[in-house]
Amino acid sequence: MMKNQISYTFQNNIPIIAETDVLVVGGGPGGFGAGVMAAKQGVKVVLAERYGAPGGMATFGEVTPFMPNHTEKQSMDKPVFTAWRKRMWEYFSSQEKEEHPFNSEELAPYLSKDIAILAMEDLLLEAGVKIFYHHTLFDVKKENGKITEAIFHSKSGLCAIRAKIFIDATGDGDLAALAGCEVETGNDEGLCQPMTTCFKIDHIDPAGKPSWEGINAIYKKCKEEGKIDCLRQSILGFNTLHNDSLHFNTTRVVKKNATDGVELSEAEIEGRKEVRKFIAFLRENVPGFENARLQSLAHHIGVRESRRIRGIVYQTSEDFFNRAKYDDGIARINYPIDIHNPAGGGTVMKYMERSQWYEIRYGTLVPLKSENLLMGCRAISLDHALHSSARIMPAVCSFGQAAGMAAAMCVKENVVPASLDGKKVREALKNEGAFL
Ligand SMILES: Cc1cc2nc3c(=O)[nH]c(=O)nc-3n(C[C@H](O)[C@H](O)[C@H](O)COP(=O)(O)OP(=O)(O)OC[C@H]3O[C@@H](n4cnc5c(N)ncnc54)[C@H](O)[C@@H]3O)c2cc1C
Repeated sequence: MMKNQISYTFQNNIPIIAETDVLVVGGGPGGFGAGVMAAKQGVKVVLAERYGAPGGMATFGEVTPFMPNHTEKQSMDKPVFTAWRKRMWEYFSSQEKEEHPFNSEELAPYLSKDIAILAMEDLLLEAGVKIFYHHTLFDVKKENGKITEAIFHSKSGLCAIRAKIFIDATGDGDLAALAGCEVETGNDEGLCQPMTTCFKIDHIDPAGKPSWEGINAIYKKCKEEGKIDCLRQSILGFNTLHNDSLHFNTTRVVKKNATDGVELSEAEIEGRKEVRKFIAFLRENVPGFENARLQSLAHHIGVRESRRIRGIVYQTSEDFFNRAKYDDGIARINYPIDIHNPAGGGTVMKYMERSQWYEIRYGTLVPLKSENLLMGCRAISLDHALHSSARIMPAVCSFGQAAGMAAAMCVKENVVPASLDGKKVREALKNEGAFL
């Protein structure tokens, strides 16, 4: 696959702002997991993020709740994800703590985007990660197949960061694509899952509002009567920590490419058009919503799917159906296959029993063609259907922590990711408390 932008010849005067062992680009659930785990291994870690805070979709995308990825008895995403949840809980008010006591194995999914930011930043800084916010990756320099520098744009203009090992945690696989790695996009027709602008509504009357089923019955009727024209077949929403507030994951923007700047901008406008329609629909038609107010709106449209790299291992949905286990497995997942229709209404769901899981292999984090690059985000080497199950925040945090562990091992052993033994990465993760 060709680099997806015009090529430049750089002068050698781009200032180097940092030299490090490991550079993580992107501070979403994946980059957070990568940064914390790599730094815990005692190597020098820098994390560069285009926005002014960590969290990615969890914060700027207003995505909530954490989708369940656990057996009947325990979370499958340890230790970084559970540490994140614990630190968030510590920021709860006394009343919230009383109403929602913390239990690391408990499945309570609540997520507040603002305390998610504080908790992630705490843990990154405590682990010793040097953070550069407001730095957007836009190119890489390579020598003899290896990335030598990642080039960023910031308020100061262009700058570069040198590293031994690079981790792509951009969600979209920007770093891998810029490094010339092979990528694929979407389903067989190249269409990705829809984008969604998430929002929260509060000032709802908890006693007067219908259940989710009731809200959906009203939505269906209004759709039939032509009072609302949105693609989703039903409203997808979730309770929040507070009983006068609900979260909506229900707008749907299809057939736009999140890695095309113009299309992404168009998607933001389209997504917010739907938000306006939904707020009006709720206020005008649903009891209890008469005084409802927009509490919070995503600052970045939610991107479920974009590029996925081709790695030295490629896993498909067969592994979901076979509950496949591997001796180089670095994360476990039992979240369903969950494909929001890339072309219109409807969602395909295929479930797995709670006592079972499949495993993601180390090689899915290792791009075929870049010597010192690892993937620590949703853009790993899976097919469209398996990606739909693996993309949830707890699991992505675990891919990140595995990439962070592998990067630290590469630095210490002076090897490249492709020659690292995945079984040893698994063992090292187990020693840190991973559920493997
Ligand atoms: C609408 C929607 C609903 C979802 N619902 C749920 C849910 O309910 N529960 C759940 O668990 N999961 C859910 N998911 C999935 C989950 O949110 C994502 O798959 C997950 O956040 C991916 O994590 P990531 O770290 O790979 O990428 P992201 O969260 O996208 O983070 C990527 C980070 O990299 C940064 N970045 C990107 N490009 C650059 C660049 N060029 N330079 C510098 N920094 C860059 C971004 O700013 C961001 O901080 C949902 C996703 C969407 C879109």
